[in-house]
Amino acid sequence: MSTMQTYKHWRLEEDAQDPILWVYFDKQGASVNTIDREVMEEFAGIIETLATDKEHKGVIIASAKKSGFIAGADISQFNQFSDIDDAVGLLRRGQKVLDSLEALKIPVVAMIDGFCVGGGLELALACHYRVVEAGTKTRLGLPEVKLGIHPGWGGTVRLPRLIGGPQALNLILSGHTVSGKAAAKIGFADVAVPKRHLIRAAKFYAMTKPKRHEPTFLQSLTNTKPARMLIAPFIRKQLRAKANPLFYPGPYHVLDNWEEVGVSGEDAFKREARDCGKLFFSDTSHNLVRVFFLQERLKGLAKESHFKPKHIHVIGAGTMGGDIAAWCAAQGFNVTLQDREPKFIAPAIKRAYVLFKDKFKEDYLVQKAMDRLQPDTEGYGIAKADVIIEAIFEDLATKQALFKKLEEEAKPTAILATNTSSIPLDEINTVLQTPERLVGIHFFNPVAKMMLVEVVKGDRTDPTIVEHAISFVRKLDRLPLPVKSSPGFLVNRILMPYLLEGMVLLDEGVSADTIDKAMVDFGMPMGPVTLADTVGLDVCLSVAKHLQQYFPDSVIPPRLISLVEQGKLGRKTGEGFYVYKNGKKVSNNVDDTKSLQEISDRLVLCMLNEAFACLREEVVSDGDLLDAGMIFGTGFAPFRGGPIHYAETQGVSDLYEQFVKLQTSRGAKASSLHEWETTEA
Ligand code: NAD
Repeated sequence: MSTMQTYKHWRLEEDAQDPILWVYFDKQGASVNTIDREVMEEFAGIIETLATDKEHKGVIIASAKKSGFIAGADISQFNQFSDIDDAVGLLRRGQKVLDSLEALKIPVVAMIDGFCVGGGLELALACHYRVVEAGTKTRLGLPEVKLGIHPGWGGTVRLPRLIGGPQALNLILSGHTVSGKAAAKIGFADVAVPKRHLIRAAKFYAMTKPKRHEPTFLQSLTNTKPARMLIAPFIRKQLRAKANPLFYPGPYHVLDNWEEVGVSGEDAFKREARDCGKLFFSDTSHNLVRVFFLQERLKGLAKESHFKPKHIHVIGAGTMGGDIAAWCAAQGFNVTLQDREPKFIAPAIKRAYVLFKDKFKEDYLVQKAMDRLQPDTEGYGIAKADVIIEAIFEDLATKQALFKKLEEEAKPTAILATNTSSIPLDEINTVLQTPERLVGIHFFNPVAKMMLVEVVKGDRTDPTIVEHAISFVRKLDRLPLPVKSSPGFLVNRILMPYLLEGMVLLDEGVSADTIDKAMVDFGMPMGPVTLADTVGLDVCLSVAKHLQQYFPDSVIPPRLISLVEQGKLGRKTGEGFYVYKNGKKVSNNVDDTKSLQEISDRLVLCMLNEAFACLREEVVSDGDLLDAGMIFGTGFAPFRGGPIHYAETQGVSDLYEQFVKLQTSRGAKASSLHEWETTEA
């Protein structure tokens, strides 16, 4: 292929065989393609050239990067608009550029291999055809609502045009991404093919210019005014159950605009840009963008290391060990799973099968993952493993005995990791010849859903081992959070006083539903009472007891102890603080006489108090990491930016005063109150 004109971020190349122009997106200085002003302006120039192109029969837009097509707009620009007009101006400009792309006479194909999201999909939607790769890495969607905004380059107009209102709104309002195959089935990709056929398929569309995809009659019908007026209220009702319009206004704007102006005409585009432009300046968007960068920071903690583990050995095939082993196998590692007898391993293998089925769909991929996961009652895997993860009973002596044996049998280079939730590493490692080898890799339950993994450093843990553990956690597609080995580490330590305070409120006669509603309204994924029931009251009690050894001021509510004694352990036994029928919670009524704000203030203050204590004790190195831990480890209202950020925006000293008042009203001695380190100016 001969190279034609070159741009900073784009590369134009002739196809070797056919009169096709390849337009490669290759953002300078970046490993992933994102769209910013400069990229968009260069692209506008390319489109201008294409408008008069008579040499080629077709154009294919593709990515020159190893990973993905386009990851969307450059998020680092979100905070750089000078004002709303500036933001709206950029969005309108992008819309116009994509309009001129769509208006080209020459057929344009988007060849999509890997992620194609946000502004990337909006660009692809303005192409005449979308040919996508059918593998598991390819994902398409408009996840802008997850950043507190909504699509602003025509996505809220073009997608409903192409596949009808309800299906498009389903994608836009949730921000969910789908596979290439699903996109082809839904109709916003023309075809999904295996990687080896991708180029051929893209060239076929560029050369033969088949009829463009059109929505079905029914899909078009949904975009008519009477249908929109009928459908929108239903969707709004569903949306209300998932997102509070006060905190997540983005999806509501999309729905309102669709209902009011539909998908034809300039008005729809103008309103999209106007509303999206305003949303850039909302607290929600600022905080969600902050969360995005916190996530990037956690990912960035895993440095390129020469530690390349292949074989993972997990000991203890219970709730945690079984799921950790399955997750490791799902991520491509060879795994041996050890327990005392085969009967303890069998349930874990069954659960792994369900996970693989759900994750891989294709039978041969499920089979391959099953082959990577080997039951190993004899512990043959110990000598071969690069990482050994212990997840046996929470008992110091049992763990010590096991690690003594592991130290003798494991390869000298292998990482010895414990999944303990509470036992300090420097107690476990006292029996080891090489205590520096022991690190904590603390997963949360359920392993397949919880993004955060605490990487725990004991006083004696070798920093290189911590680095290896962090890089291993990233290889599992999880977010590593380095924490100091201290009681409850970070997440459980902060969560526990909050859960216990919820139980105190119950004892005071506030209904479970009222307490839970207060915190769901605050922005938590579930309230503290439901959370305690879900985690299991036995687990809660054991963590609370453990923490009480170190923090004797904390009081364990008698009702928690009594429920555990009665075997009412929460959701898993059909009764805890709530009663469950067929796995579903039987709710009582929310007590309207109680101030939900007062309840949530009280619960949040408890959490903040512990959060500041963790900062003071350097359990994590800074407030941002603490916020990241609580958001990714507990779902702490992301649009509030994390507990420390929340406290700082509300005013640390005011909140601290409120906390002191609350504590002294209960008779706490002033000397027992923690002092919050204020980072306020
Ligand atoms: P579990 O009781 O479900 O499983 C423990 C398993 O270990 C059992 O199958 C048992 O047979 C096996 N086992 C015990 N001693 C053994 C030995 N010497 N050799 C081989 N196998 C042995 O426990 P779990 O809830 O999975 O917890 C395991 C560890 O993970 C604990 O340290 C716990 O603190 C920690 N943890 C638990 C959770 C949670 O939510 N359950 C969350 C994070 C961490």
